[in-house]
Amino acid sequence: MAPSNKAHVAVLAFPFSSHPSALFFLARKLSEWAPDVVFSFFCTPKTNGSLSSWPALPNLRIYDVADGLPVGHVSKGRVDDEIDFFLGATPGNYREAVKRVDEIEKVSCVVSDAFLWFAREMAEEMGVAWVAFWIAGACALSVHLNTDLIRRKIGTRTEEVSARMDESLAFIPGCSQFRVRDLPEGIVFGPLDFSLFKSLHRMSQELPRATAVLVNTVEEMDYDPVLDRLGTVLNKCLPVGPLTLLAPTRPDSDSDPYSCLPWLEARAHDPASVVYVGFGTVIMPPPSELAALVEALEESGVHFLWSLKDYMRESLPTGFLDRTLGRGLVVPWTPQSRVLGHVAVGAFINHCGWNSVLESIAFGVPMIYRPFFADHRINARILSQVLGIAVEVKGGVLTKDGVMDGLDLLLKREEGKKMRERIGALKLIAKNAVGETGSSTKNLKTALEIIRGSAA
Ligand code: UDP
Repeated sequence: MAPSNKAHVAVLAFPFSSHPSALFFLARKLSEWAPDVVFSFFCTPKTNGSLSSWPALPNLRIYDVADGLPVGHVSKGRVDDEIDFFLGATPGNYREAVKRVDEIEKVSCVVSDAFLWFAREMAEEMGVAWVAFWIAGACALSVHLNTDLIRRKIGTRTEEVSARMDESLAFIPGCSQFRVRDLPEGIVFGPLDFSLFKSLHRMSQELPRATAVLVNTVEEMDYDPVLDRLGTVLNKCLPVGPLTLLAPTRPDSDSDPYSCLPWLEARAHDPASVVYVGFGTVIMPPPSELAALVEALEESGVHFLWSLKDYMRESLPTGFLDRTLGRGLVVPWTPQSRVLGHVAVGAFINHCGWNSVLESIAFGVPMIYRPFFADHRINARILSQVLGIAVEVKGGVLTKDGVMDGLDLLLKREEGKKMRERIGALKLIAKNAVGETGSSTKNLKTALEIIRGSAA
């Protein structure tokens, strides 16, 4: 194929948790809007395989990069090991793969998951723009960008950090409601020498050099001072969320192989009566918490739909599924957005993963949360302290009483009604943002202009 002047965007995905599907969706959206631009999407073979259910687009091509796993590697189910191997193979694996397509059709812009900081170097070497995509919220991005400052103020030695866990992060504009303990691992605590945390630190230094950073949030909804501040630190900060609402259909997450929607439909006569339980694609609560959750669901008598991976199903107590037959449905996968959009669903027990949070907002379902790691605690603080649309399960871990109390609050009490009203208002804001003239639509168009502009 002869080199052309067509814009050709190399899209580099980070292949873990919900990262690749979010970036793939974004790439699809841009491909649909700009049929004249070619998008080459790079990710590991396993992830690319899982994206194959999406209908093909003529200007979106998919390429494999090495996952770094040693030949004959047998997974012990530890995602950290796989991340280690993968990051060990970067940036060489992406460089090699991008070079191959660049030789055929000149790359004119690099779009990457923000985690892949080396995309800045690659873009610079090719003399093109780097547009980074931050899959999570603005506050989480802000604390990462301030890693060096936080380390200077708080320290990184276990004893000094432990003694300061309850201190506020007020020294970062817009972050006074966060405490040191809310920070994601890898900033001042957690194994700072873990490859992913070293990468995130490097990301915090490189992102201010990106031509633009797209953030999966809504301009009018995210915590204003943080977005304002990001606008001064980054060359261009473009909130483009919630991605879930920009998607007309998402074959990977919208199919309903376990018939959750007909099951919910049978409850449609009783709006906001079903609790949906789901902890995302990675997290599994420890066995003791799982047992407590089971007891709470059983004793509360509520109707529930639970997305629970097959391997955890065995941990459910004998007889639980039989005893709750008819009022409970436990399946390994749900079309989550459509579930949250169903009139019967009135509460969502989750881990505060950002996609789940945004989906809950997009469909107006208040939450009960049990945060685990990464940005979960930051997200949790925003939901309860700033937006008032969720409650933490009492004591921070899943206990029978804590879950039952949360369910009672959200489904029966006046406080729950108020939360539903508040999240209902945010739902409208989110809907407007992705409308034809909404802020996220405009920002995504600006991103497309940047991508096209760099083709000149
Ligand atoms: N998801 C889904 N069905 C399931 C479980 C998860 O559609 O049964 C989707 C969910 O809609 C969300 C993503 O997987 O878009 C999970 O992302 P989140 O950021 O909440 O958590 P993570 O998986 O990154 O921990």
